[in-house]
Amino acid sequence: MNDFTLLAHNYVRPEVQQIADFTGDSLELAKKAQEVDAGTIVFAGVDFMAEMAAILNPDRDVIHPDPHAKCAMALRIRPSDILETRRRYPDAEVVTYINSSAAIKAVSDIICTSSNAVKIVNSMDADTIIFAPDQNLAAYVAEHTRKELIPVPALGCCPVHHALTVEDIGERIRKYPEAEVIVHPETTPGVQRIADFIGSTSAMIRYVRESKADTILVGTEHGIISRMKLESPGKRIIPASMHLVCPDMKMCTVDRCLQAVKEHGPIVHVDKEVAADARRALERMLEVT
Ligand code: SF4
Repeated sequence: MNDFTLLAHNYVRPEVQQIADFTGDSLELAKKAQEVDAGTIVFAGVDFMAEMAAILNPDRDVIHPDPHAKCAMALRIRPSDILETRRRYPDAEVVTYINSSAAIKAVSDIICTSSNAVKIVNSMDADTIIFAPDQNLAAYVAEHTRKELIPVPALGCCPVHHALTVEDIGERIRKYPEAEVIVHPETTPGVQRIADFIGSTSAMIRYVRESKADTILVGTEHGIISRMKLESPGKRIIPASMHLVCPDMKMCTVDRCLQAVKEHGPIVHVDKEVAADARRALERMLEVT
């Protein structure tokens, strides 16, 4: 049995992805965290991801090499935002995007990722869904289901993806008119409308591998580009904007990971009751998918 397994999100630094035992998107990493043999999981990503690995693995130590690495979108919502909205829509169910804290997951009925959000929302009994915390993913899901979605907070978003504009892509298309455009559903509806493909990070990696196009413009965080180039050599893979960089995703460096292994910490701690409620919502997602 290995003592440590290093899990790394597709957005972390390429050199960290290279030393990781496994890289993937949020759903893949959540599943992987439950499958590995190692006694300790080192999680290179932002806080909610390491928290999630800890919630799903209560008997193992989960180490987050840099606890200051926090998701800016997850910080924009409080449990009271959801509880108040539940009071206003008593018949609604709460679907929460995996990019959220344990406290937010704990007050949700079920969790979703960008790859399964449509399936999860379709699986709900209620016609009205309170959806947290990304307005853009909510808009994407609303377009692909017959449900009414109430985004909470109303203007919640990932500041990195939300900043990508139609003009950014237009500028790139003028330079590379033959290119296909792929974007993440955290981008705005306007950006999604001009894309050839919308998908989670892993779906985007797959798309690049399978596409016949030689040039592809990628509308998501830069960290994914190195993996795409590695898996699809010979293709021209170009960021849709030079500003698609999440500073928090870059905080876990190789040095910090090695230091974390050496010091066996910092270990992620989640309040037991919060963890139990969050686990219920996460496991419901894993059952549906
Ligand atoms: S890219 Fe956006 S959603 Fe992902 S961790 Fe950074 S701020 Fe959060």
